[in-house]
Amino acid sequence: MIADKPKRKMAAKMPKDPNVVTTTLRYRIKDASKRVLLDQLARSVNFVWNYCNETSFNAIRNHGKWLSAIDLKNLTSGSAKELGISSVTVQAICEEYAIRRIQFKKRKLRWRISQGSKRSLGWIPFKANSIQVKGDRVTYLGKEFRIWLSRPIEGRILAGSFSQDAQGHWYVNLACEVARIAHRHEVEDVGIDLGLKTSAVLSDGAVIENQAQYKKLEVKLGKAQRAKKKRQAKKIHAKIKNKRRDFLHKETTKIARKYHTVFVGDVSGKFVQSGNGKSSTDASIGVIRDLLKYKAMRHSGYCFEVSENSSTVTCSICHKRTGPIGLSGLGVREWTCSECHAHHDRDVNAAKNILRFGRESLRAAKAA
Ligand SMILES: [Zn+2]
Repeated sequence: MIADKPKRKMAAKMPKDPNVVTTTLRYRIKDASKRVLLDQLARSVNFVWNYCNETSFNAIRNHGKWLSAIDLKNLTSGSAKELGISSVTVQAICEEYAIRRIQFKKRKLRWRISQGSKRSLGWIPFKANSIQVKGDRVTYLGKEFRIWLSRPIEGRILAGSFSQDAQGHWYVNLACEVARIAHRHEVEDVGIDLGLKTSAVLSDGAVIENQAQYKKLEVKLGKAQRAKKKRQAKKIHAKIKNKRRDFLHKETTKIARKYHTVFVGDVSGKFVQSGNGKSSTDASIGVIRDLLKYKAMRHSGYCFEVSENSSTVTCSICHKRTGPIGLSGLGVREWTCSECHAHHDRDVNAAKNILRFGRESLRAAKAA
């Protein structure tokens, strides 16, 4: 008997109320002494996860049955107390397991490992009703965790998790529902070209330079890696990541405050085609896009993804395809249109096209 995989259910991400947006706030947990406790809870989480993995796989293999989140919840009910975690956490693990299995289209997922060098990074999910937040304190299962309150906790908490980074630091992540801010924008709209070299180029010529800020740190990182100083390298890596995150937060907020409607290129195919594959820079492009979407919504604006097909090869003035084409064209930063003789910066021209494509499709959508 061949087991049918369940079809992926599309979770509605947009909150029902148009006046609110959801976001995840992340705070570092202060108290180093709580690390032992969190590690212990994470082991229980891993146990439940692995139980789900094994049970689910056996059900598929032996009976051709794909267990749902509800099936898994029924099978694990009552185990929470013994494991020392909240029953809501056990339920959240079952839900996450079921979602991931569909997402990765697999009969079996990776085991969560509690010990040794291949240890999984700690993760303890929860729902709003299993925690209390007061000032800089988060209480879970009667245990208090103090956090670095890097920004105020705002809005209604929906769910969240404790999670660990590669250095072993613990964080609490809170998915919150926040109210939209009434805001008057200076400029109606803008097109943004996301790229590898510079983070983003705007259709009005503004450039968000990403890399330059971390040059020094990156040199340091290279040295540490060559010298095989693992701990030091990890530390520098985390520093770069935090700096980049801070920087992107600030820049995307500026954009969302200035422009009412933001059109951003759909980058998905771009770098795979150019032979770069999926790089870490790629990931930061995804981060920018997600931040832009959230921040635009937050500031009562909009952010749309626009297909950026042919945006680099089309002249933004006369709309003829006169730009640099193919792999040999990748290195060309500036060019002159052979039809209208306009001189272009490649990325600004692409951003202008994205703005035009965006305006056109918005007009078409409104007319329909
Ligand atoms: Zn032209």
